[in-house]
Amino acid sequence: MTAVAAGRPASPARADDLQVAGMAPLSTVDWPGRLAATVFCQGCPWDCSYCHNPTLIPPRTPGTLPWQDVLAFLRRRRRLLDAVVLSGGEATRQAALLPAAREVRALGFAVGLHTAGPYPRRLEAVLGDVDWVGLDLKALPEDYDDVVRRPGAGHLAWECLDLLVASGVDHEVRTTVAPGSPAVRHAVEIARRARDAGARAFALQVVRTEGTREEFTHAHAAADQRAWQQEVATLDDQVRALDLDRYDLRPA
Ligand code: SF4
Repeated sequence: MTAVAAGRPASPARADDLQVAGMAPLSTVDWPGRLAATVFCQGCPWDCSYCHNPTLIPPRTPGTLPWQDVLAFLRRRRRLLDAVVLSGGEATRQAALLPAAREVRALGFAVGLHTAGPYPRRLEAVLGDVDWVGLDLKALPEDYDDVVRRPGAGHLAWECLDLLVASGVDHEVRTTVAPGSPAVRHAVEIARRARDAGARAFALQVVRTEGTREEFTHAHAAADQRAWQQEVATLDDQVRALDLDRYDLRPA
């Protein structure tokens, strides 16, 4: 008896199953150069200390915004927006992401995706249905577990980078730097490896404390802010010198 014959075949995911925690009706920064609405999907398998929306991490918390309400909003905004960014949490965690992306495209919007890359196979499955991806590279593979505070994360986001580059989908790789973090020590090497892997655009994001947990806010406040500004300026110069096709520094 085969596994499929033994049990009921899995139902295909439906867009209506997407657990949406909220939506930003207009953003000019979530997909640089686009006027986008941003949809925040519930749940993330990682637990970064600097997460600026930790309430989106628990995967069993149900969404608060029905998918049909998202679509109704988008229909009303067709002339005012040109894109929708599916963000998180971690959007690729949910199987409903793929049918949701297709429904957004069917309304005539370009589809952007934010991902931290914990699920390479799921990213691969959705790449044909999105127009742009913002991929977080949080650290070198060997430092990943310290940043995302989960074991075995090291190779996943870097595998996602390879899949993204191979797909030809437009993208931006982003690395967030915080005082004392492994990403600060290795930001230039992360950018260099991303460039060598074929990334077309790279952004260095200086961490913001808004929305982060209290322990992170306190640790950040305790850092020497002048030294931190100098460190960021030095990193900016060093990454700029790598001559990436597109490079941005995103200040806090
Ligand atoms: S991957 Fe993103 S959403 Fe998940 S814990 Fe880290 S910062 Fe938060």
